[in-house]
Parts: sequence; C-alpha cells; structure tokens
Amino acid sequence: MSWSIRSAELTQAELLNNESIFALGNGYIGVRGNFEEGYAPGMNSIRGTYLNAFHDVITIPYGEKLHGFPGTQQKLVNGIDAQSVTILVGDKREPFSLFTGTVRSFERALNMDAGSAVRSVHWVSPEGQELKVSFTRLVSFAVRELFAIHIEIEPISVQGPITIVSTINGDVENYTAANDPRVASGHAKLLRTVSSGTAQDVDYVVDETSASGLRMSCATAYSHSDAIAVERAADERSVMYTARFDGGRPLFFTKRNIYTDTLRHGADPLSAGLRIASEAASAPFSEQLARQRAYVADFWKRSDIVIGDDARLQEGIRFNLYQLLQSAGQDAHSNIAAKGLTGEGYEGHYFWDTEIYMFPVFLMTQPAIAKQLLIYRHGILDFARARAREMGHKQGALYPWRTISGTECSSFFPSGTAQYHISADIAYSYSQYYMATEDNDFLWQYGAEVLIETARLWIEIGHYYDGAFHIDEVTGPDEYTCCVDNNYYTNAMAKHNLRWAARSCRTLSRLDADRFGALAEKLGVTEEEILGWDRAAEAMLLPYDEALDINPQDDTFLRKQVWDFDNTPEEHYPLLLHYHPLTIYRYQVCKQADTVLAHFLLEDEQRLDTIRSSYDYYEKITTHDSSLSTCIFSIMASKVGYAEKAYDYFKETARLDLDNTHGNTKDGLHLANMGGTWMAIVFGFAGVRIKDTHLALAPAIPAAWDRYEFKIQYKGRTIDVRITKAEAQLTLSEGDALQVRLYDRDIALEPGKAYVQAIQS
Ligand code: BGC
Repeated sequence: MSWSIRSAELTQAELLNNESIFALGNGYIGVRGNFEEGYAPGMNSIRGTYLNAFHDVITIPYGEKLHGFPGTQQKLVNGIDAQSVTILVGDKREPFSLFTGTVRSFERALNMDAGSAVRSVHWVSPEGQELKVSFTRLVSFAVRELFAIHIEIEPISVQGPITIVSTINGDVENYTAANDPRVASGHAKLLRTVSSGTAQDVDYVVDETSASGLRMSCATAYSHSDAIAVERAADERSVMYTARFDGGRPLFFTKRNIYTDTLRHGADPLSAGLRIASEAASAPFSEQLARQRAYVADFWKRSDIVIGDDARLQEGIRFNLYQLLQSAGQDAHSNIAAKGLTGEGYEGHYFWDTEIYMFPVFLMTQPAIAKQLLIYRHGILDFARARAREMGHKQGALYPWRTISGTECSSFFPSGTAQYHISADIAYSYSQYYMATEDNDFLWQYGAEVLIETARLWIEIGHYYDGAFHIDEVTGPDEYTCCVDNNYYTNAMAKHNLRWAARSCRTLSRLDADRFGALAEKLGVTEEEILGWDRAAEAMLLPYDEALDINPQDDTFLRKQVWDFDNTPEEHYPLLLHYHPLTIYRYQVCKQADTVLAHFLLEDEQRLDTIRSSYDYYEKITTHDSSLSTCIFSIMASKVGYAEKAYDYFKETARLDLDNTHGNTKDGLHLANMGGTWMAIVFGFAGVRIKDTHLALAPAIPAAWDRYEFKIQYKGRTIDVRITKAEAQLTLSEGDALQVRLYDRDIALEPGKAYVQAIQS
C-alpha cells in the first residue's frame, strides 16, 4: 500500500487538494491532477501545466516605488493545456462525467513505484450506458518532453458509438487570489497563441508570452484502436481531434503530448517538438511505462526510507521524496520552486528553500541532481553581482530572495531582499557539497567563485564596531521579525561563508598554485583580502545573553514584548493573514525556526546547553506559520534529547500535504517541508552530520518504531543504515573502506561488511 497514494474523493475541497497531490512531473514538465473531462459545471479547478522556469515578465505595481525596488518580476506561466479529453457515449453523445449518472466505483492512485497515476471508473450514464474507463498518466523521466495520457474503455453495456474528443488548448490563464500574499494577485493572461494546426500527422499549438518572448509548443501524436471515423479541427487557439469507435468493443486511446520551449529547444521549439513527437509515437505506451518504472526504481534504490511499522508515516515520507524528484529541475535554467511543479503558489519562484531544505536530500541520495542545483546558482551569479551593485555594494554578490531567471522578484523588501542570508545559504550548500564529495573540479569551476563573491557581500554590508564585526538591517529566516541588526542566523552563516571563501582559496592554492594564481587574478582576489575574510569571521558578533544562556535572535529581540498568545484565537493563524506586519514585528513571535535553524546548521558554534535553552526559549514563541519550521524543531529536539517532541514534530511534517494541515495544499505542495521530512529522519533521529573531516552519526529510534532504514551517499560510497530498537547497523554497500564517527567513536567500515553497535540512549 505504501507505494500508492489513493483517493476516491469527489468533494470540491478535496478535488482541489488532489490536483496538487496527484500532480505528475519530471523536473521539466509539471501537470496538476485535473480530470481530463473536468468536474461538474460551476465547480472550481486550478487546471495547470507548467514547464519549469518557463516564465513571463510582469511589471510590479507599486504605490510608492523607491530606489532599488525591482521593477519587474518573473512569473511561472500556466502553459498549453493538453489534459482535455471528453468521452461521449452512444448516439445521444452523453458526456462521461463523475458528476452525472451513477458512479459504480471510482479510485485514483499515484503509483510511486511505477511513476504514473491511474484513475479507474465504473460508470453508468443517465440513460443507462454502462462502461469502465481507466486513465493512466505519465510524465516521462526518459523522454523529458513527454506527458502521455492512455485511456482504456471497456463497454459493459453500450448502445451506439463511443466518441473521444481530445483537445490541445492554447487559450490558458494563470490562477490568481487577491488576498493571499502566497498566491499571485494579478496578471492572469500571460500567453497568446501564435500558431495551431496539424503537421506530419501531429497536432500542435504554439504559444508565446507577451513580455519575455518565450515560446512553448505542445505537439500531440495520437494512437488508438481502429476507429470508424477520425476528424481534426483547429481554430486560432486550439486543435481538436475526434475519433469515433464502435461502442461494442474495448478500445484504447493514447495521447502523447510533447512540450518544448525556447529555453531548452531554441527559437523554434515546434520543429523539435514535431520530431520528438514522431519518435515518441513509434514506441508503445507499455514501453514508455516500463522505462519510467526502471528510472523510478533506480531512484528508490538510493533514496527510499523504510519505516518499520507505521504505514501512514511510511506513505508520507515516500510521497514527499517522490514529489521532490518530480519537481527538481535538472538543467541549467531551472531549480526547485517552493511549490515544485504542482501549483502556482509563490509564482514558481526559487527561494532559499532549495539550499537549506531540499539540496541536502539530493546531496546525500542523488549527488548528480544536487550538483545541477548548484550549477543553476552559479549560472545566475552575474545577476547577483548586478543586484549587489544596485543595492549600493561595491563588490560581491547578493542573490535574489525569490527568482526564476536570476533577478530579484520580491516586491516586499522587509521579508524579501532584506533576507541577505540567502547568499550565505547558497554558500553553505557549496561547502556541504565539497565536504560530501571532495569534488575539486567543481570547486575550481564553480565553487570558489560563488564562495568568494558571496563572502565579499558580508565585507560590504558589515562593519567593525567596538572590535566586533556587525551586520545591520537584515532579516533572518523568521519573517515575523524584519530589518534588524545582528540577526544571529545571518551572522553565523556569514561567518561560515567568509571562512569557506578563505578555505577554498587555500585549498586550491595548495592543489595548484599556478592555476590558483590565474583564478585569483581573474577574480581579483589578494592575500590581503583573504586575511580580511578571516578577520571578519573571527570577529563576527554572535549575540549571546548570559542570564538566559541563549542566543538572542538579534540585537533588540529580547527587549520586545512577547506576543499575547493566550488571547489570539485559533482562527487568527497564520498571523500574516490577520495582522499588519508592523504589529507582528513589534513582538517576540517567530513565524519559523531562526536561531534554532542556525544551531542545526552550525552546531559547533555553541555549547549544547546554550542550544538547548535557546530551543526551549524559541519553541514557546514560534507559531510555525511557515511550513519550513516544524522539521527543524524536530531535528533539534532530537539533538537536545527531547525524543517525544522530535517525533511529534516529525509527524507534523511527514503528512503536511497529504492531510492538508496548512490549508493551502490546493495552491501546490510544500516542497521545503518535504525535504525537511527526510532531514528529520536522517539528520534528526539518526543524527547524521557532514563534518569538515568526516561523516558523523548518532542514531536514536522513536519509541513508536521498531526499525527504520535508509541509504546515504558520501564521498563516492553508499552506506546502508539500519536502526532497530537495539542496534545501529552500518554497511558499506558501495565504494572503498571509510572511517566514520558513530556517537563519539571512529569506526572503520569495510566494503560489504556490516558494522553493528548497540543504540546509545
Ligand atoms: C517562508 C519562507 C519561504 C517561503 C517559500 C515563506 O512562508 O517564511 O522562509 O522561503 O515561504 O516557501
């Protein structure tokens, strides 16, 4: 059971959520789980098909536009709709619908081991026509451009013909919601159709964005059982393919849609689309399914987590990992959007969510995907440099808080641009990548440049005061406390960034002094500058309150009043939808983990006691209004020894979307939280850490479980980890012998041999 997500829901609310949950994707295409034939008239649907990074550029409307406010932003475009298929039964052409006649049975399943979704219906029409219909969908990992729908119809008692009408529709719009800052509010119509028709037996529609000038093409090839008649009709915006079948016999109908775009296929995406469509049409659908299954099996071989005896959490963790795979961009143009490719929330933008919450999962299970995510950030480095200049910095790179193609897209700077920490977060992921792979080539080609340019930003924005290095007027991860001085998280991450810039220079200079000399010259790095990074890191102010033995979130945080939680009604959460930002900023109240997150990422900066008392302090004032919060509290509860809390927080993360606990799953899934679920197990319960010199583990097991298992990739090795109530078992299943630290001892792992040790409590 745990390999499938199943549902038979037909209520409006659940249908909308299920559009996100049953979404299919391959990192390039994402298709929401809409019904081919639609719902009942009057019901809402967010019908969506997205190509990762395919965007339009829109003007940001401001009442008052000040210097440095971005004038435009990118927006993920809802693309050409190829989902539509109508089935008309009998001479009266009764439309198949789950909202008319009698539904004898209905179930939909997202099959995570097969990489496909299936919807099966047994239906009797109002006039008594009875048939079984199944829809199998696949967004292919083998042929990135392919989204296929395969329909099988078994007539039980049908009089007259069965007619299938399939459409490719270029007349599409984006979804908007006026009063939710997490969804876009304007600009629904972003595409216009430039051509539609049929060529080489393939139907096509080509659309273009109005401002970015990007083109998207959908070329559709059909194959089906012998038909009585086939007809094609095109208008300016769509192409319709109609096939009439003998209703007395079982039939199949396969629609293979090939999506191409300017970003990946050049100025004429249609030509590429037509070529790929005719190739794809020649492969049987069963073969496409088999290739999909093989790809997905390979993914699970490295990425699965097995939880002994908890089917619901098992389902949750697999679903989350599967959706991460489906959303991860694997080319130079794309990354992972906050909602993946499952909806339009946050407008398809990439945030720090990638580096801090999702990248670690890929780094330790699919390092090739992790590397690609970093290459994307290197690819937009020039935009980050330009943004730093625009913000008044003479040197360095300021990464955009949210973006698709590289420029800043946030229009509300207090919780947008002011989150300078994103530059340090990106640098952190580069350092993690290096520690986990020792990939020197990568450090030469990409890593050093990003580490150096981001480090320069801190020298620009920071300053010495009273002997300490201060960073003023930034916002940390907690968006309920904005524009502050010396945010602990930002300062700690900047310190790490500065250290790693210096370290990467020294490493490369040791590896090849001449080559480093050339790189240093190109980037204008001098020994004096490197020493300046060391000095600033050393002097970095990390706020500390002796009386409480905690790290205050920033210079003034502890002076503020604590939010009146007792008198805040349940329905006023999330606070951001009910209070003006200034009201929220005046209080000690956190939307999400901030200092607690810093204590996870940089645990060696503080004593365990300080980390624990900080946890206790912040837990009381954190609302977890952001879905990026509970996973971090779970990891840190594991660290400070609060086993029950660790498990409770974990439970909140694992099924957040499956149970719609944040109430907005319809707008798309919460991808960062999905990565957080994996982290809560691997970094939380199992205590895995990538350290400077080694890999460390400190496994514990939740009381409710009898075992859990996962695999991690580290320096070219695969380590199988199996934790039971009694013992931790580590097996080096691939790669050469390796020393790791288990609890506080170094142990030697030998290829193929299991190392077993009792669990320490
Ligand atoms: C969170 C941010 C996050 C963004 C996108 C916001 O609600 O506070 O930390 O980056 O959502 O997921």
